[in-house]
Amino acid sequence: MDVQRKIQVLKSIDLLSFLHEDTLERLAEESREVILKPDEMVFHEGEEGKTMFVLLEGEIRVFKNDVEITVMGQGSVFGEMALIESQPRSASVQALGPITLLEINQKQFHRYFASQPQVLMSLMKTMSSRFRRTLGTPSGISTDLEDGNVTFEKLEMGNESVVLLNGNTLGLLKATSRALKQFNCTQEAIRKMSLADLLFLLEDTGLKTLINPLLNQRRSQSETETELRKPNGETVPVEVKIRPTASANGVPMLLAWISDISGKKEIENTIRQMAYYDSLTGLPNRNLLNDRLAVSLARAKRNNEKLGIMFLDLDNFKTVNDTMGHETGDLLLKNVGRMLQGSLRQQDTVARMGGDEFIIIAPEIKSSDDAGTLAQKIINQFEAPIVINGQELFVGCSIGIATFPEDGNDTKSLLKNADLALYRAKDRGKNNFQMYTPALNFQAMERMAIEKNLRKAVEREEFDLLFQPKVELASGTIVGVEGLVRWNSRELGQVMPDAFIPVAEDTRIIFQIGLWTLRKACWQIREWRNNGLPSVSVSINLSGIQFAHPQFIKELQSALDEFDISTELIELEITEAILMKDMDLAVQVLKQLGQLGIKVAIDDFGTGYSSLNLLKNLPIHYLKIDRTFVGDFSQPTSAAIAKTIIGLGQSLGLKTIAEGIETEEQRKFLLELGCDEGQGYLFSPPVNGKKIQDLLRKKVM
Ligand code: C2E
Ligand code: MG
Ligand code: MG
Repeated sequence: MDVQRKIQVLKSIDLLSFLHEDTLERLAEESREVILKPDEMVFHEGEEGKTMFVLLEGEIRVFKNDVEITVMGQGSVFGEMALIESQPRSASVQALGPITLLEINQKQFHRYFASQPQVLMSLMKTMSSRFRRTLGTPSGISTDLEDGNVTFEKLEMGNESVVLLNGNTLGLLKATSRALKQFNCTQEAIRKMSLADLLFLLEDTGLKTLINPLLNQRRSQSETETELRKPNGETVPVEVKIRPTASANGVPMLLAWISDISGKKEIENTIRQMAYYDSLTGLPNRNLLNDRLAVSLARAKRNNEKLGIMFLDLDNFKTVNDTMGHETGDLLLKNVGRMLQGSLRQQDTVARMGGDEFIIIAPEIKSSDDAGTLAQKIINQFEAPIVINGQELFVGCSIGIATFPEDGNDTKSLLKNADLALYRAKDRGKNNFQMYTPALNFQAMERMAIEKNLRKAVEREEFDLLFQPKVELASGTIVGVEGLVRWNSRELGQVMPDAFIPVAEDTRIIFQIGLWTLRKACWQIREWRNNGLPSVSVSINLSGIQFAHPQFIKELQSALDEFDISTELIELEITEAILMKDMDLAVQVLKQLGQLGIKVAIDDFGTGYSSLNLLKNLPIHYLKIDRTFVGDFSQPTSAAIAKTIIGLGQSLGLKTIAEGIETEEQRKFLLELGCDEGQGYLFSPPVNGKKIQDLLRKKVM
């Protein structure tokens, strides 16, 4: 199964819906796929195993002592208590038909699931059947103290002990041998005791509510969890189930099953710990944070106090993780957790939200400035290196702040606004804090909406490539077209590239979009060729990180090969900024492109600061004059810049092409300056692949 398909299946699983898409992706990539044939065993009861499974395809049979407990289908999550506690598996699992599983090992389990109560509960429920068994019917039990022993002992199941008692007095009559062992006393001693002695916590009223409904036959079974006191004073948590049985001489008799549930209690505690604390740092996790925040907010409202909420995110944590490994990353997070805790007051809470995100709740602050002071103090702490395994790591952090009551009245909007402020802090170059302001809302919401939907957009192929003719200014002949991407989002409508390309770059989705654009352009060229149109070149806009990607030339080459396109039909546009960012790399890539015979244009020329010397030595072919200089030639500076660029182009032997030509005057002016080609609404806006065919047939605009 390929990763995309795996992600699809994982996404469709309700239980995993809390996972972030990035996490799902990582999980799909990291975890092992297991394919089993019919009847093959996934694991055996009693084995030690530290794995959890997600059933991607097919069905499994779960059984215990050869008895089928359940059948589970696609989307089930199952595994073993061994992950939570070191308990061996309590059931066996077999493949029914061919099945595909995702195997999640202990480490991954702890990374992704250990703090998820839903998953833990589900693991417990599906596999830990030993805690869920219902009682058999104890009919026809002899209450005769001498004869009935054999049947009486048989009442015991699993780890339960059984006692028989007088329903009126609650005096114990006899106990199974295991019960005697458990209570650590003799049959004689038992006869002197009552149920109340054993279950002392319940006292009279508690016992009555258990027993009375049984005596007047309103209930056939009562059950409770309590503590058992042994004669030596020791107590153990137990589960008690009581049922009526045949009465003797008019005296109602009861049977009580008592089982030691200390194991279950321990697991419950572990689960609680896991559900509320982050396993890596030991800090409160999202669940506990939500609880604490609700409590703090209620108190702040009651006492008319202010409350500060800070979102903190490490800068460049990803780099540490990628270059130094997860282990170091984990240690760093632990360290940061400790550092944050150390810098806070006792009433503050710091929680880890997963990844490198932390949240701080600061109650009882006097003003939002107090929160700012605290944030600055934290940021300052990050100035010193954090030492891990003898290595000094420099990480900064960015903080977003929202305060109650100014920035929100409920937990949800406060968290959201602190998050928005964090976005702004990141935007402002990281390593700083920002307070929430209402103006942030719209901007950041838009960006977040784009980011959220962009991933889906690639899968759903929501992109379209439009084409705008490039025209020879003197003759009006179409000499080529520029491909311009559009995103028709199901959720957001049409989104222009200026709005989503920067987000795609930040999230690196640009690689997929870029490849799509490239292949689409090649496909389109082949389409035109098949339709008998004169061949024109298509210029493709490249993003900086795409250009710098080591696989780029290879991808380009294989797209050309796949659609059988000769190299002179594809041109590339890169901006000045890309050139300047890493000159050596740019030169290297440009040389490779030159060898392939691919022409390159410098887009938005005039907005950067390329040096003449650099341009002279690079294998480039066009300078594209940015449309801001074409817009208004009545402005002397615009005219001067256009003139300079054209002159520069001529002196370097490069063709010049002007963007955004909207009027006849602009065309004339540029032509007079010696500009070779142009693009703009005067000739045609960007149009779709079909429409451009008609223009190409006419050839002249
Ligand atoms: P660009 O490469 O400089 O593209 C020229 C922009 O000017 C296009 O905007 C085009 O629609 C617009 N335009 C064309 N004629 C006129 C005109 O007469 N007047 C005015 N006012 N505008 C005109 P668009 O399509 O919104 O693209 C914006 C930018 O997005 C592009 O600037 C390019 O940098 C980037 N872009 C577009 N497609 C892609 C792509 O496939 N990959 C990458 N990495 N970037 C792309
Ligand atoms: Mg362009
Ligand atoms: Mg441009």
